[in-house]
Amino acid sequence: MGQFKMLIGGKLVDGAATIDVINPATEETIAPCPRASEAQLDDAVAAAKAAFPAWAATAIDARKQYLLKIADAIEANAGELARLQTQEQGKPLAASQGEVAGMAGFFRYFAGLDLPVKTIEESKARKVELHRKPLGVIGAIIPWNFPLLILAFKVPPALLAGNTVVVKPAPTTPLSALHFGEIVRDILPPGVLNIITDANDLGGALTKHPDVRKISFTGSTATGIKVMTSAADTLKRITLELGGNDAGIVLDDADPKKVAPGIFSGAFQNSGQVCIALKRLYVHESIYDEMCDELARLADSAVIGDGLEQGTQFGPLQNRMQFEKVQGFLEEGRRHGKVVAGGEVPERPGYFIRPTIVRDIAEGNRLVDEEQFGPVLPVIKFSDAEDALARANASPYGLGGSVWSSDPRRAYEFAVRMDSGSVWINQHMDVGPHIPFAGAKQSGVGVEFGEEGLAEFTQVQVVNMAL
Ligand code: NAD
Repeated sequence: MGQFKMLIGGKLVDGAATIDVINPATEETIAPCPRASEAQLDDAVAAAKAAFPAWAATAIDARKQYLLKIADAIEANAGELARLQTQEQGKPLAASQGEVAGMAGFFRYFAGLDLPVKTIEESKARKVELHRKPLGVIGAIIPWNFPLLILAFKVPPALLAGNTVVVKPAPTTPLSALHFGEIVRDILPPGVLNIITDANDLGGALTKHPDVRKISFTGSTATGIKVMTSAADTLKRITLELGGNDAGIVLDDADPKKVAPGIFSGAFQNSGQVCIALKRLYVHESIYDEMCDELARLADSAVIGDGLEQGTQFGPLQNRMQFEKVQGFLEEGRRHGKVVAGGEVPERPGYFIRPTIVRDIAEGNRLVDEEQFGPVLPVIKFSDAEDALARANASPYGLGGSVWSSDPRRAYEFAVRMDSGSVWINQHMDVGPHIPFAGAKQSGVGVEFGEEGLAEFTQVQVVNMAL
């Protein structure tokens, strides 16, 4: 494994210290990773600030060409990026390969957008135009569940709009992002993109930094609240993509055999470590037993293992802290419900928990009421669909939700009344670069993806001319 370095001002640099990055499937160290000092964080912000005027003045068509070159470079290095992400994150290699392709897709998508001047009014007396200008230095803070893809949610729209960026990956999954930095170093002018890595200790300094104009943050609601608080002193713009506790509602006319695979994948993809995973399932009493049996059958046949091994469908939890947290949720499931599949923590190295189905459980315990962020799904019985909808909505979170039914029009009537940023019908978790993505309630502030997401990386300027 080569040496990993940070990218600051166009240079690959060592950290002030190092941290070890662990492979969660083996618990072995993959490689040492640089750990930035606060002075190096300041260097990265200073480099981004210095690069900003020239980058902002670069024509948008030229910036698009940079994004397309980056997409080409991602594709040319896809194998190594995917392998590295699987080693540090744990997910199956095929999933990492899909994400690296998706990453290139985000760069290409944003390279196809424009920020044209809009004429608001044109009369004999005056002309009013709306311009969208870049903000300045953007701080992009990334979690550990999709280290590369989430970087690509933020960097291309920020750069397209004319901003410069300092990326801070999560400390347990920094290597793939550092490798990405090495790949794009010779493409972008120095300082336009900087990547620094920490030991979970520099987020506060980045969000407080007076020269950072906006924070684009993805992570937990608890940390999002800290970001909002520390960004307040300098009135930074913020986009927060936070936690969720997505409900799925299975109506009485759904066919359990037909919907079970979609529900299972919506709940257990990435071993449940997805913000928009289906995290509590409400099922009508008339099909409750059959639905639990179908899900248990799928859980029993799941293949867990090292993501680099052929045939692995589900990798480990990403880090020891999350592994221990999810075991606590499992214990809650045992205490308040009945485990009908999974529930084992295999005797082997690595942070593995088998996909687990918990039935005969309702609200009033942590497994149902909080975000488990792991492979343990509570299945809750209901008799009245209106009641299920009210219970689904009675959560401080509001990221996604889904309704499952043989009659999509009936499902639609329930889906649009879910209190969440995204709702799906007979599927869960479908997202794309052109589809705006937002969290309601404590699941977030602002929007990512699409033209709405791009607009959040801009400052509105109205030009009002008397004629
Ligand atoms: P986390 O909040 O612990 O960490 C996220 C990032 O914030 C890391 O890079 C971390 O180093 C950094 N950080 C830590 N302290 C900080 C501080 N005081 N100020 C600024 N940054 C700080 O989240 P996690 O455990 O890495 O990720 C899991 C969570 O992320 C889950 O809640 C999940 O639902 C959420 N998530 C949300 C989305 C979304 O789009 N809504 C997507 C993926 C994950």
